[in-house]
Amino acid sequence: MTAAMEPLDLYGATRAQLAEHLDRVGVGAHHAARVARGLHRQGIALEAIRDLGPRHARAIRDSTTSPELRLAQVLPTEDGTTKLVIALADGARVEAVIIPGGTKRATLCLSSQVGCAMGCTFCATATMGLVRGLSPGEIVRQLHLARPIAAAAGRRITRVVFMGMGEPLHHYAATRDAIAVLTDMNGVALARDSVTVSTVGLPARIDQLGRDFGGQVQLALSLHSARQPTRERLIPTAARHDVASLRAALDRYPRRGRAFIMLEVVVIPGLTDTPDELAAIAAFASGLPAIVNLIPWNPFGGASFRAPTSGEFVEARRRLDALGVRVRLRLPRGREVAAACGQLALATAG
Ligand code: SF4
Repeated sequence: MTAAMEPLDLYGATRAQLAEHLDRVGVGAHHAARVARGLHRQGIALEAIRDLGPRHARAIRDSTTSPELRLAQVLPTEDGTTKLVIALADGARVEAVIIPGGTKRATLCLSSQVGCAMGCTFCATATMGLVRGLSPGEIVRQLHLARPIAAAAGRRITRVVFMGMGEPLHHYAATRDAIAVLTDMNGVALARDSVTVSTVGLPARIDQLGRDFGGQVQLALSLHSARQPTRERLIPTAARHDVASLRAALDRYPRRGRAFIMLEVVVIPGLTDTPDELAAIAAFASGLPAIVNLIPWNPFGGASFRAPTSGEFVEARRRLDALGVRVRLRLPRGREVAAACGQLALATAG
């Protein structure tokens, strides 16, 4: 490696970046697919990659960085959800959650940042503020750590959702590169429509995601309210983008086939479930191929909201149903280990 050459983020490099790098260090771009398969598909060390050879393996190792991620805690729950507390090299911690689906599959909810800058008032992660963004390699390695744990339970991770700590579109370049690795057929090889990015709604970044992946990445919008004052109360950064501009960005987002846009709505009694609020959500969803995911607000220490009773939660669904909205209830899983949505602030941090 020359003095001017930046070390490559080995596990977060897209195949094009990897090929260019291998060329530069004299290994040859034609090894890129083989290296990507070894690292991401087979999960083996550089030295064990067939036909690469020890000299090339050393040249790659010496010119790249590999994030050291360590499983600090594995917290299984009775419903099958498993929370992983992951320690990063600098001591920061993030969380990922394995959510079982069907009989043999699992979805991995992963983090894109340590903490979050968005400041959502209903979310435990917001209380941390933004500590830093994860490198693409740190994002991808969460899947590497989770895969054997899912496999031990007889499950294969076939879906990834960016719904853990952080706002993935606020950390766009790393999110984009991580998705490219996760969906590269020589990388992790997830189907592109198996990746969902959840965002509080940054219209310019939604447009960018649409351009970069041609609509193959699924979109989940943390809508919560379609009335501007309520939305700003829940998501302070919503003040920068009004509801109409958000809706226009969803209209522009390219969609493949019968893909739906998920609209996440957290049910907070008296705030997001009033008839006016639900009518505004129905109006927002009208004309979109959207599914509203209703999520009961999950309590955390110091928060000033109240969780809905099961009666209130079901009533919100009934009202949206009556307004002709396609609704799904997302019941919190893993609540006892604070793995449910919005609870990913780390009691274990530090
Ligand atoms: S809900 Fe998402 S975007 Fe909002 S503070 Fe929490 S992690 Fe950040």
